Amino acid sequence: MSLPEAFSERLRQIVPLSQIEAVLKTFDAPKQVTFRVNTLKSSPAELEGELEAANIPYERIGWLEGAYRISPTDKLRLTQIDAFYQGRLYIQNLASMVAPMMLAPLPEETVLDLAAAPGGKTLMLAGMMKNTGWLSAVEPSRERFFRLRANLETQGVTNAHTYMTDGRSVGKKCPEMFDRIMLDAPCSSEARFKTHEPKSMSFWSIHKAKETSKLQRRLLLSAYDALKPGGKLLYCTCSFSPEENESPLQHLLERHGEHLNTLPLILPFDNIQKPLERWGKEIFDVRIQNAVRILPTDTIDGFFLCLLEKK
Ligand code: SAM
Repeated sequence: MSLPEAFSERLRQIVPLSQIEAVLKTFDAPKQVTFRVNTLKSSPAELEGELEAANIPYERIGWLEGAYRISPTDKLRLTQIDAFYQGRLYIQNLASMVAPMMLAPLPEETVLDLAAAPGGKTLMLAGMMKNTGWLSAVEPSRERFFRLRANLETQGVTNAHTYMTDGRSVGKKCPEMFDRIMLDAPCSSEARFKTHEPKSMSFWSIHKAKETSKLQRRLLLSAYDALKPGGKLLYCTCSFSPEENESPLQHLLERHGEHLNTLPLILPFDNIQKPLERWGKEIFDVRIQNAVRILPTDTIDGFFLCLLEKK
């Protein structure tokens, strides 16, 4: 099956001409599998020992200690070793690992993950916080909430407090409570499209991306309310659509721009693109230029990230 035509058309308007053909090809091939050590339960040296004992060839990711890449053909074997089901490793795309890296929570801080399940980023945040401080994880979908809880337990997270609730209500319930907030927003998941898995694309439409944009705007406003002055908020999605990335940020800056700065993001690889300056009739605030659009490769998923600071 090929990509939805309207989607590829839009992608051609978003991604620079010099990169678009390479980007389109990434949807056709299975991605390299990446994972990271759970520092709450193990260490890079210990995990490497377990991989070697299981004869799973791995490659270290140079820019993130404890992160690894293996061939997709070895994924099944990875999920059969003790380290996997005892929670000493977590399979996660590298783009998703970048988000907690950029938010960079510290031990003892008060942190909120506003759209948390299945918990990949919550787990990494807990590791970076060394299981100290207070980590709130919010997820309204019942089924996904219990998956999140199970993942936190398997991976030995003890500083997380989970809430099955709508993230839109959190800002009013917990005003100015958090030092750092992760908003990995529900999105149209365009970066997860795979032409060999038609189901991954079957629910997509431009209308859907525009509808999701409304939810993202409200979640961003809620996150803003919940953030302490001086606190940091990381907004990210796995969508390419400006309606889900630049536009919700524009909406936030139009409402609270006098109290917000965006911070430049230095990423450890170069398959990135600056945000758009305009889309359709919308001209975006120049501060959004500090955000980053990750372009997909055979290893990294597409992603969009923006780090904000409340004055
Ligand atoms: N951060 C997660 C991770 O790294 O494993 C992935 C989060 S996923 C992109 C977005 C999540 O937002 C989904 O689990 C979805 O159920 C949840 N969600 C949907 N509507 C929401 C809302 N109103 N408030 C908070 N979360 C919501």
